[in-house]
Amino acid sequence: MSSLTQSLVVPFEQARQVVEEHAKGLRPKGRELLSLVDGAGRVLAEDIHADRDLPPFARSTRDGYALRAADVAKLPAALEVVGELRAGASVKDLEPLQPGQAIAIMTGAPVPDGADAVLMVEHSSREENRIAVTKSISPGENIVPAGAEGRRGDLLLPAGTRLDYATVALAASVGRARVLVHGKPRVALLATGDEVVDIDVVPGPSQIRNSNSYSLAAQIAESGGEAIPLPIAPDEPRRLRELLAEAFDSDLVLIAGGVSMGRYDLVEPELAALHAEFFFTGANIQPGKPVVFGRLQPGAWAPQPAPKYFFGLPGNPISTMVTFELFAKVLLQALAGIDPQPLRFLHAKLGKGIHTKTGLKRFLPARVSGEFENVRVELTPWQGSGDIASVARSNCFLVIPPDREYFEAGEWVPVLLR
Ligand code: AMP
Ligand code: MG
Repeated sequence: MSSLTQSLVVPFEQARQVVEEHAKGLRPKGRELLSLVDGAGRVLAEDIHADRDLPPFARSTRDGYALRAADVAKLPAALEVVGELRAGASVKDLEPLQPGQAIAIMTGAPVPDGADAVLMVEHSSREENRIAVTKSISPGENIVPAGAEGRRGDLLLPAGTRLDYATVALAASVGRARVLVHGKPRVALLATGDEVVDIDVVPGPSQIRNSNSYSLAAQIAESGGEAIPLPIAPDEPRRLRELLAEAFDSDLVLIAGGVSMGRYDLVEPELAALHAEFFFTGANIQPGKPVVFGRLQPGAWAPQPAPKYFFGLPGNPISTMVTFELFAKVLLQALAGIDPQPLRFLHAKLGKGIHTKTGLKRFLPARVSGEFENVRVELTPWQGSGDIASVARSNCFLVIPPDREYFEAGEWVPVLLR
């Protein structure tokens, strides 16, 4: 730790809360009008309303016969078939259905006046224009009334909704060929370390390929941002300062590595020299304990309209990934226009017992398997927070509280899915 900054190591929950508080104060910048296809994955900058009732007409959900439920209350019942309605057919000029009548109807077709239920074709047998009905049904069965899913003018998708396949479908269903979305926040990525080299060069015997810029770029894209990778910063103040200055042109700055207590960990001193505010310089977690969160006021570097947030993420690859998920993501989502979301933990049954040390909240690579009520989770064997192969075999992080030393097989434990 540099003498310029006071050590501010806080419990996980406190660190998370601090980031969430700051995230709440952030607004997305810019808007653009995109085709709905291009809008998938983006964040709505406008409310989307229903342009008509959903469904717009009483819709049959089955192939069968539209009829009056009262006519088939007593079995056997026989009805006269007076016509056929396929999906897309109009019922506007149709005479209302009379007692004793039925009309053949297909899934998705409008239900005519006079009918109050749709009998599945399986429960009838037809001869010429008569059907024998083998099952009674209740009024309303197999019909979705007009407006039951939404009324014209209803708010369907509020601004701040991230468009996924389901919300895109809803926008399409109300005719939104174009959508107004927020601009993507630009996130500068600065990997640091004398030993770190680009992945397109042949590394020397003790050099390490830069994987952090790639995991982070993928995480940033998943969270609605645009990654701006910068050249790798050596552990040397002058060049680091130059690259930091460039990084602060972006909306958010992520620095990977150089935040531990080592002699060559220069990130904090450099930022402190610029009078950065530090909200925490460590969290009681593993991996990722040296994580740093702070803010630089306008004017310190490059023209900037508002303070810029930064995270110093520990350089060990799993630490970088975990601290992004736990802290940076929610801030980035806020910059993208997504309301800050709480972390969602699911529970799974522990496969094998675990011994751990107390003191830190742990987020360990693990694998959830099984299905339905039989979801099991087991730690993925790992060699510590540099073990990328282990995390690549995992599909979640098993969360271990700081006050327990032993977990028995069969216990329900929280997991953070990824
Ligand atoms: P640091 O946080 O700088 O002390 O780095 C911790 C560990 O992570 C060291 O073993 C580094 O070699 C490794 N490391 C740092 N940056 C990267 C990177 N961009 N890609 C892969 N490994 C890294
Ligand atoms: Mg380093």
